[in-house]
Amino acid sequence: MRDARGAAPTPDWLLPFYTGGVTEDARERQLERLRRERLDVLILGGGINGAGIARDLALRARETGTPLSIGLVEQAHFASGASSRNSQLIHGGLRYLKNLEFRLVREALRERALLLRLAPDYVRPLRFFMPISGWFERHYYHAGLALYDLLAGKARIERHRMLSREEAAQLEPELSGGRLRGAALFFDARVNSARFTLANISDAIDNGAAAVNYVRAEAWERDAEGWRVHLRDTLSGEVFETRARKLVDTTGPWSRAGGLRLVRGSHLVFPRLNRSDNAIAWFEESGRIIFVIPWGEDNQLSLVGTTDVDHKESPDHVRISREETAYLLGIVKELFPGAQARPLAAFSALRPLLRDEAASPTRTSREHRIWNDAAGVLHVAGGKYTTYRLMSEEAADLAAREIAPALAGVHPTSRTPFRAACLPQSPSERIAFAVRHEMARRLSDLMFVSTYWGYEQPWDRERLEPYAREMGAILGWDRERMEQEIEAVLSLRAVPDLTPLPL
Ligand SMILES: Cc1cc2nc3c(=O)[nH]c(=O)nc-3n(C[C@H](O)[C@H](O)[C@H](O)COP(=O)(O)OP(=O)(O)OC[C@H]3O[C@@H](n4cnc5c(N)ncnc54)[C@H](O)[C@@H]3O)c2cc1C
Repeated sequence: MRDARGAAPTPDWLLPFYTGGVTEDARERQLERLRRERLDVLILGGGINGAGIARDLALRARETGTPLSIGLVEQAHFASGASSRNSQLIHGGLRYLKNLEFRLVREALRERALLLRLAPDYVRPLRFFMPISGWFERHYYHAGLALYDLLAGKARIERHRMLSREEAAQLEPELSGGRLRGAALFFDARVNSARFTLANISDAIDNGAAAVNYVRAEAWERDAEGWRVHLRDTLSGEVFETRARKLVDTTGPWSRAGGLRLVRGSHLVFPRLNRSDNAIAWFEESGRIIFVIPWGEDNQLSLVGTTDVDHKESPDHVRISREETAYLLGIVKELFPGAQARPLAAFSALRPLLRDEAASPTRTSREHRIWNDAAGVLHVAGGKYTTYRLMSEEAADLAAREIAPALAGVHPTSRTPFRAACLPQSPSERIAFAVRHEMARRLSDLMFVSTYWGYEQPWDRERLEPYAREMGAILGWDRERMEQEIEAVLSLRAVPDLTPLPL
């Protein structure tokens, strides 16, 4: 078995040293705490917002020496919703600038600068190449990007510059079939959004929080002592109750708060499409911005997205449609007419946006809202991955005012750096690490969250089998379970067959 970069595996005989022969490890310890402790706060949902709030509160408590019992439950794997399946950008959002949402852009750019400084192993600068088709566009984008630079303030990231037709063609000769009239280069940042969510979870746990995956909050009611929450371990079926003084809802698309518009966004993954290591940003005819982002451990892939489609089905079933696939393939053909582009994989997720007057999902605002409902549940909705730290800080302030007033206004996440990311290299070590330290329990947790391997190769049953066998050896899977796990991975990454659709 080799990983996406072709690295050799750890020999089987070494595996027990990495796993320590442990099966129920970190996860069981966390579960035990939830069964036992009377919590001050319970966070529902382990995407970036839940993880960010848990880390924020845990750091406040640690820094001030205040005892605070913090719990977090995630119904599936951490980051398995939008927090792993997004465009992986930490950005101000040129599109919002186009919509004249200056405050949103300014706020996001400030967060971008902060994350570049505090999490340099996770958030890195990324250079964008924006093709330009004529004189008017050249001046329009030059002015827009100057404003973008201005709004970024003193952020340590390079400013934009304009390229002539020749310079543009030299950098990206295949783009638009060589018919470029020029381009702009500007800078934003990228993140491995699944791994950064895991980093927030692990920091929260290290600072005293209890966080566990595959535990769903099924119902909650309030009595004189606070919240009584019914939890289900969706792996074992165990049902238990926990008590908490405060409930925080970061369940995103699953939230029962109401007032949300669920907008699906999908991506296709291709073998690398463009020549340079730049990302491509392209405003298509309707004003939507499309990104082609270098992806994979060696930038050997291109991530193309995204779409904006109202999602009417359950948030449990989110898949790219044939129409979205055709739309993204059409864009790839337009941008790279010479490419034999066949997608390797697809993924989709939901944006739980605040319902507003906008007719189109694209124009619906990305503003966030944090509020206590009449029963006293604190809800977090809308926003972007980029601004998760700020949203978490706001939510933690509101929760702290009720449960530990001394912690309100203490803001450690604006100055506490993340530890260096230190991961084992070989596939066997990564599998053991994911199970033992990151609570991965399904093959899809390993392939789409702990790593993005699942999107990076043309997987089939045969190629997935050794990974399922190795994970199953640690977790005690039988043949039937391994088959189910493999099937789930293949289905999650599938690209619809477009044969009957005219492209
Ligand atoms: C296609 C797409 C592209 C995007 N690109 C970008 C980008 O490039 N940059 C950017 O800044 N933002 C981007 N975003 C937005 C960003 O991804 C989201 O704002 C962010 O991930 C939301 O995080 P969250 O924690 O609120 O929600 P989620 O990540 O969806 O987490 C909610 C979690 O709650 C869990 N849950 C639900 N119900 C329960 C329950 N009853 N009990 C326990 N757990 C429960 C779910 O399983 C889920 O894991 C994008 C979004 C999409 C959809």
